[in-house]
Amino acid sequence: MPNLIEQQKIITELNKPVKYVACYVRVSTEEQVKFGFSIEAQKDALEKYCKEHGYKFKFFIDEGISASSMKKRKALKELLDKSYMFDMVIFTKLDRLSRNVLDANNINKILKENNCTMKAIDEDDIDTSTADGTFIFNLKVSLAQREIGKTSERINFVFKNKREKGEVTSGQKKYGYDIVDKHFKINPTEAENLLNLYKFNISVNGDVEKTYGYFVEHFDGKGYDAMIHYLTDTAYIGKYKLYRKEIYLDNYIPAIIPEDIWYKVQDLRPKKTIATNIDVEDIFSGLVYCNNCKSRMYRKVDNRTKNTVIRYCCNNAYTYKKGTKIKKCTNNATIREEDIEQYLLENLFKEFNKYKLNAKIEKEVVTSSNPQKIKQLEKRILKLKDLYLDDLIDKETYKKDYTKYTKEIEKLKEAKIITENRDLSHIEKLLNSNYIDIYSKLTTTNKKKFWLSVIDKIYVEKRQIKEVTFK
Ligand SMILES: [Zn+2]
Repeated sequence: MPNLIEQQKIITELNKPVKYVACYVRVSTEEQVKFGFSIEAQKDALEKYCKEHGYKFKFFIDEGISASSMKKRKALKELLDKSYMFDMVIFTKLDRLSRNVLDANNINKILKENNCTMKAIDEDDIDTSTADGTFIFNLKVSLAQREIGKTSERINFVFKNKREKGEVTSGQKKYGYDIVDKHFKINPTEAENLLNLYKFNISVNGDVEKTYGYFVEHFDGKGYDAMIHYLTDTAYIGKYKLYRKEIYLDNYIPAIIPEDIWYKVQDLRPKKTIATNIDVEDIFSGLVYCNNCKSRMYRKVDNRTKNTVIRYCCNNAYTYKKGTKIKKCTNNATIREEDIEQYLLENLFKEFNKYKLNAKIEKEVVTSSNPQKIKQLEKRILKLKDLYLDDLIDKETYKKDYTKYTKEIEKLKEAKIITENRDLSHIEKLLNSNYIDIYSKLTTTNKKKFWLSVIDKIYVEKRQIKEVTFK
């Protein structure tokens, strides 16, 4: 008679749900000939593993097929089609399943959708059934993706060489130059205009506002960003900076601005970096959403004027793809934070009443009319899996019965949607207090806390607040 602990062990062992495992085996003709690899060796290892763990298993075998030809691997395709039936896919080593970790990642995505994990029994680091294993697998995937990134860097290197020969790689015009025979040639009028801009900037001691006034007059149709770009571009001293890289090419573009003048302008530039922008406190970030595409709007800190201005803009309004602007969201207008604040303070009550009318919560209530029957059907599905895996029934019968049982279960588990009015008394209470007086005395941090405690989302489009939802 086993003691109590042993008895409990046996009971937990018996109660453990049986795992259904798909065993994938692959050998290419070349491997068979060259290395004497055999299907049998893999099969034995996998079978032994399943038996040791008490798994139910089924083999999927691709024989004489290399890992690179995904299309020809009928067994793998079948396995993926059926993955919803299995808890786990196992193989001896990753190279049996896929050529590389990125392909494996794609396979894993399909498996994950079907609640199935994968594991290489001869390699410790491929196992998505555990948190550790998943972490390491994802790490491998990102390392592999970085490798691919390096390839594209190599492509950039080719471009770099082209540039080193002095050839312009794209047809992009740069202010101050013309492109003649794939080479940058100074445009005398534009070059003079630039030099005057630099000189003016020095004459006003780097005053950005005054310089901008000058810029608007002399550079037709160009905006503030262009001015900053012109005043900081190293190309004008003959050092062409590679896009997004700290690499500068000499002898690629002729200089327009004498170095001492260029450096003087840099010294006069206001010492504002992105790092200081992080310190700028806002009161609505995280709450402002685009009414058009429903994505969260991000804040832009504008240091151009004496008082820092925070604006919110839609992240999808522009996306850049290979240098071409592709518009995704039409809401390209930005909204000032103070405008949002003012609107809300004036219209909070109105917006709240508007919201209250529609503030119903939907609750899904699952009412099962016959839990006993559901359990029976679930057991039948498990039995069905057994029959199929043991080849006692064919695929068609399996599919037909499986669908029948799951539909019956769904029917029995009837879900009802119940709507209820939301309890908003906490906000009502607040709105009936003299919150506007209190608000005006709050620090920025506390103002932010205030809005966070009241408002869920602010939907904005074309500089207007379209909808406000409450906490
Ligand atoms: Zn948008």
